[in-house]
Amino acid sequence: MRMLIFGPPGAGKGTVAGQVTSEEGIPHISTGDMLRQAVAAGTELGRTVKGLLDAGELVPDAVMIALVGERLEQADAQDGWLLDGFPRTLPQGEALAELLARTGQRLDLVALVEVADEVIVERLGGRRVCLACGATYHLTYSPPKVAGQCDRCGQEQVVQREDDQPETIRRRLATYHHQTEPLIAFYEAQGVVRRFDNSGAPEEPVRAVRESLASADRGR
Ligand code: AMP
Repeated sequence: MRMLIFGPPGAGKGTVAGQVTSEEGIPHISTGDMLRQAVAAGTELGRTVKGLLDAGELVPDAVMIALVGERLEQADAQDGWLLDGFPRTLPQGEALAELLARTGQRLDLVALVEVADEVIVERLGGRRVCLACGATYHLTYSPPKVAGQCDRCGQEQVVQREDDQPETIRRRLATYHHQTEPLIAFYEAQGVVRRFDNSGAPEEPVRAVRESLASADRGR
């Protein structure tokens, strides 16, 4: 199974992706998590991208394409993956298509998670994320058992993302509408897009994605 999870920031992609990948036994490759980990570890990549992440701006295509290309070469990604947060621009989508064509692979599913902008602003304002393992929480709907501490990995690194500030959220939504949404038509033309509404409880899109996976014509 090779799939993309697509949708605006705060649509709940990470939550849906986490459940689907653990059920499918495929790696959950989140470019946002990879970049945040690089920032936290203070690597060269992290130092280069920190300002862009904090401002809610996109990292250059060339950097992202190289990062994802390397990740997809790793052993755990040979039998399938779920990409979360990539591609985000048409050039990234074209680069992924080339990579797949080169290796004789194809995409099985593009899961488009849809939520209205005003719901997103409310959700992201309360969102907290574990810098160590990427687990996400919401102060009102799903807080960690101990404030600031991750239920999943135990690290005391559950924080508000710098880019979850209201002004930055609006900028990220605008970037999504202008730069990322055009990719939907690109994938519609390939007949692999399925839409899932995630305005309600997160179990609903997870169940719907599961049903789509069961009926998907899986590539090798
Ligand atoms: P996310 O966790 O997916 O919302 O990503 C957080 C931030 O990482 C984004 O606002 C961008 O600054 C950066 N980022 C993640 N994935 C990409 C990508 N494919 N292209 C460009 N920037 C990205």
